[in-house]
Amino acid sequence: MKIDMKNRVVLVTGAARGIGKAIAKKYLEEGASVIIADVLVDEAKKTVEEFKNVFKENKIIFHETDISEKNEVEALFTVIKEKFGKLDVLVNNAGILVKSSFFDTTEEMWDKTMSVNLKGTFLCSKGAAEIMKNNGGGNIVNISSIDGEVVYYHGHHVPYGVSKAGIIMLTKIMAVELADYNIRVNVVAPGVVKTDISGGSMKDSGHLNEVMREIPLKKLAVPEEVAGAVVFLTSSEASYITGTTLFVDGGWTIH
Ligand code: NAD
Repeated sequence: MKIDMKNRVVLVTGAARGIGKAIAKKYLEEGASVIIADVLVDEAKKTVEEFKNVFKENKIIFHETDISEKNEVEALFTVIKEKFGKLDVLVNNAGILVKSSFFDTTEEMWDKTMSVNLKGTFLCSKGAAEIMKNNGGGNIVNISSIDGEVVYYHGHHVPYGVSKAGIIMLTKIMAVELADYNIRVNVVAPGVVKTDISGGSMKDSGHLNEVMREIPLKKLAVPEEVAGAVVFLTSSEASYITGTTLFVDGGWTIH
C-alpha cells in the first residue's frame, strides 16, 4: 500500500497521549511533519521529546491549545501558517468523555462535552479548511466513536454519544461543501480502545466481560489500530473516499 506522507504537514489535536499520540507517531513514521495541539502541557512536551529522539529528521512541534476556545484555535492556525505555510492533514482527535445517565446529566456536563467534542472539531476544521482551500486541497479525519452510531450497551454516555453523532453529520456536510476545494473529510469511529479515557471502567472485570460480549473479535483495540485507519483515509489510497465513517470496533456495530 502506498502511504507516502513525506513533505506533508499534519495537525493532530489531543496528541499528548492515547490515540492521538499513536496517530501522530504513525504520521511521523511515514515522513510527515506533525503539530500536536493539546491542553496537557507537560505530557505533550514529554511526547514531543520522545518523538524528537526517534524521528530526528521530522519537524515536530507542540502548541498549547484548548480546541473549545476560538481565540486559541485561531492562534494555533496562525502559528501553522507562519511555521509551515500550509496544512495537508487535520485529525480532530481531542475529546472528553463524561459518563452520565440521562437523568444525571447536568447542563454543565452537556455544555462542556459539546464545547470540546463538537465545537472544537468545528473550529479546528474551519481553521484548517481555510488554509487547505488556498493550497489545492487536503484531508480531514474526525474521530467519532461507536457511541455516535449505536447506544453504548447500557446508555450512560448521554452528551458524549450525542456529540459523537454530531461529528458524523458535521463530517457529511463538510464532505459535500469542501469537495469543491479538493478537501476530503471522513470519520474514524473506534470501539473500545485501551487508553486513559476508557481505562478506568475496563479495570472492573464485570464491566470488561459485558463489553467483550459486544465485540465479535473478542478483544479491545490498541491505539495503533485506530492510527492505521486514520492514515489510510488521508493517503492517496483513499482518494475516492469522502464523507464516510470507518468503524474500527472489532465488529461492535454489526448488530
Ligand atoms: P485520552 O483522554 O487519552 O486523550 C484525549 C486527549 O485529548 C488528551 O491528550 C487530552 O488532553 C486532549 N484534550 C481534551 N480536551 C481538550 C481540549 N479542550 N483541547 C485540546 N485537547 C484536549 O483519550 P483517547 O482514548 O486517546 O481518545 C482520543 C479520541 O478518541 C477522543 O475523541 C475519544 O472520544 C475517541 N474515542 C476513544 C475511545 C476509547 O475507547 N479510548 C473510543 C472511541 C472514541
